[in-house]
Amino acid sequence: MEEKIKELTEKLRYYSKKYYVDDAPEISDYEYDMMLRELSELERQYPQFKQQNSPTERIGGEALKEFAPVTHAVKMESLQDAFSEEELRAFDKKIKTVFPDVKYVVEYKIDGLSVELEYRNGIFIRGATRGDGITGEDITANLKTIKEIPLMIDPSIPYLLVRGEVYMPKRAFAELNKKREDENLPLFANPRNAAAGSLRQLDSKITASRNLKIFIFNIQTSEGFDYENSHKKGLDRLKALGFKVSPETRIFSDIDDIISEITRLGNSRSELPFDIDGAVIKVDDIEQRKVLGSTTKVPKWAIAFKYPPEQKETQITDIIVNVGRTGVLTPLAILTPVRIAGSTVGKASLHNIDFIKQKDIRIGDFVTVQKAGDIIPEIVKVNLEKRQQDSREFTMPERCPACGEKTYKDEDGPFVRCVNNVCPAQTIRNIIHFVSKDAMDIEGLGSSQIIRLSELGIIKSSADLYKIKAENLQNLERFGEKSIFNLLNAINDSKKRNLNRLIYALGIREVGSKAAKILAEKYKNMDNLIAATFDSLVEIPDIGPVTSEYIIDFFSGEKNLKLIEEFKYYGLNMTYKNENVGDIFSGMTFVLTGTLSKYTRDEAKEIIEKRNGKVSESVSKKTTYVLAGEKSGSKEIKARELGIKIISENDFDKMIANS
Ligand code: NAD
Repeated sequence: MEEKIKELTEKLRYYSKKYYVDDAPEISDYEYDMMLRELSELERQYPQFKQQNSPTERIGGEALKEFAPVTHAVKMESLQDAFSEEELRAFDKKIKTVFPDVKYVVEYKIDGLSVELEYRNGIFIRGATRGDGITGEDITANLKTIKEIPLMIDPSIPYLLVRGEVYMPKRAFAELNKKREDENLPLFANPRNAAAGSLRQLDSKITASRNLKIFIFNIQTSEGFDYENSHKKGLDRLKALGFKVSPETRIFSDIDDIISEITRLGNSRSELPFDIDGAVIKVDDIEQRKVLGSTTKVPKWAIAFKYPPEQKETQITDIIVNVGRTGVLTPLAILTPVRIAGSTVGKASLHNIDFIKQKDIRIGDFVTVQKAGDIIPEIVKVNLEKRQQDSREFTMPERCPACGEKTYKDEDGPFVRCVNNVCPAQTIRNIIHFVSKDAMDIEGLGSSQIIRLSELGIIKSSADLYKIKAENLQNLERFGEKSIFNLLNAINDSKKRNLNRLIYALGIREVGSKAAKILAEKYKNMDNLIAATFDSLVEIPDIGPVTSEYIIDFFSGEKNLKLIEEFKYYGLNMTYKNENVGDIFSGMTFVLTGTLSKYTRDEAKEIIEKRNGKVSESVSKKTTYVLAGEKSGSKEIKARELGIKIISENDFDKMIANS
């Protein structure tokens, strides 16, 4: 039991970090909540094995050091949750033993990111994230870009601290992911993570471009702002002041009425323009709240009813197979399109052949599909009563659908692979990864161009990119003279990328950009990494035995070593330069114009890139700053037209000095 408790605690800590700190969850909220419940139950039964700082007692977030810390004047608590009617009735009963005439407010539980907004004499002076409930991150500049947040309210109110939920409307989320897909950027798992990722940006321009909105749901504390100790009245008064408050807040006292209201709110879920993950029931009277108090994590006067993930029935019209970067064949169900949780679903991952067998899934079957906070929806079960006479069983193809070579099933796992070294599907995916932003960042080469160049036999591996000449591209659709010039420059430029990017670009299993950086810092050059032993890898914190095994495997592959030799031949940088001079320009794009007096263009570019910024040739809406020297010309004019901020060399120096 001790082991089990330790393991669950560790797992929950890991998933919690992925969710709160990295904004990139790996499991659904429902799975997370169920795991947390299991731990809570085990801790109740075996309190002697409870770990210190257990996730059952801690508020999940953590403040990033890039933002100034804000100590909350009033703790930003989480909420206890309920998944059944019985739990709600028990909550009501407990409260009514103390306050038989209690009044509750029922509200939507908006699935976004919790923030607090501070107003002094009517002026918005500071805004922060929840963090761990005690200390959050100062994100005032980013919050100011959200149009629904008033920058000024009634100046006769000396002090007001309100709490709300920043969210990304479903439509904005769909548009953002579509755009990111086009740009080969990783997709956000759901609107909540997209909102969190957008709000915790070092560059407020990015936040401003993300269409975020807010609902205020609580008054944390105030001076000279009377709301008669009633939460509902407080919300009404905030609305009158110009805040967007939680919509559909109503007062109830009977638990049956509350349950019908929760059902009603839940039924409207798919029609709402924003995501909700539940409904919140709160005691209305602020004095009663004080008497009821809180635990270390949640108030005792409120509870969140969490709706189960939304499910719909639809039919599987076909099962197709995709070949991934590592050669794994993944079956994908093609569905009769159906609307779930605000978006149209036409595909669902079937993971692997064991999953299909376990669920007895066949082509033609009617299946229940659910979206549980993930991008790709999943199949929950087959409706056997509706099984069609002509339904067809699916078998994994014996030959790779992309190259026609024989496939192999892993001995110790459910995956089927194509092991052909030159399978075009894998090559293409590898190259798409190689050029992506966090890898070698080669601009001007999208997935459709890579597919085209591979079909024409111009590139067969990522090393072939460095062989491309202008004449290979001339006469090809979508390659004009200027874009050829820019692309060749970008390819050439990428040779200088730091070692960590190249390691990440290799696409070693489990080696993401963070792990790649750790490896580059430790081994300093590619040859040392190639020669690294399992024992030296596994002792690096954050690498672990599985990843170490993959790294060893990768560098034992002849094909991979040959690829690295080719990279060396083409002059790619193979050593790690410690460029850690901060992140101040992270997410920003500069355009340089005119003659600079202190730096050459290349020097200015290096300064920007070392601080994680980007330099682009042309001014567009994506430009953050135009750094203008003497005799700047058309670029400055264009920047003015687009309203892009123009800075002088002096401003630039100040930015660097301030960092
Ligand atoms: P919570 O989201 O369950 O509830 C508390 C939050 O609800 C508050 O912080 C507040 O921001 C928000 N909220 C929205 N509308 C509200 C309203 N009208 N009134 C009051 N509060 C309102 O708890 P939590 O501690 O913030 O986070 C836990 C959630 O995060 C769970 O849903 C869990 O599944 C998810 N999570 C998921 C993973 C994962 O890997 N998928 C990991 C960690 C946490």
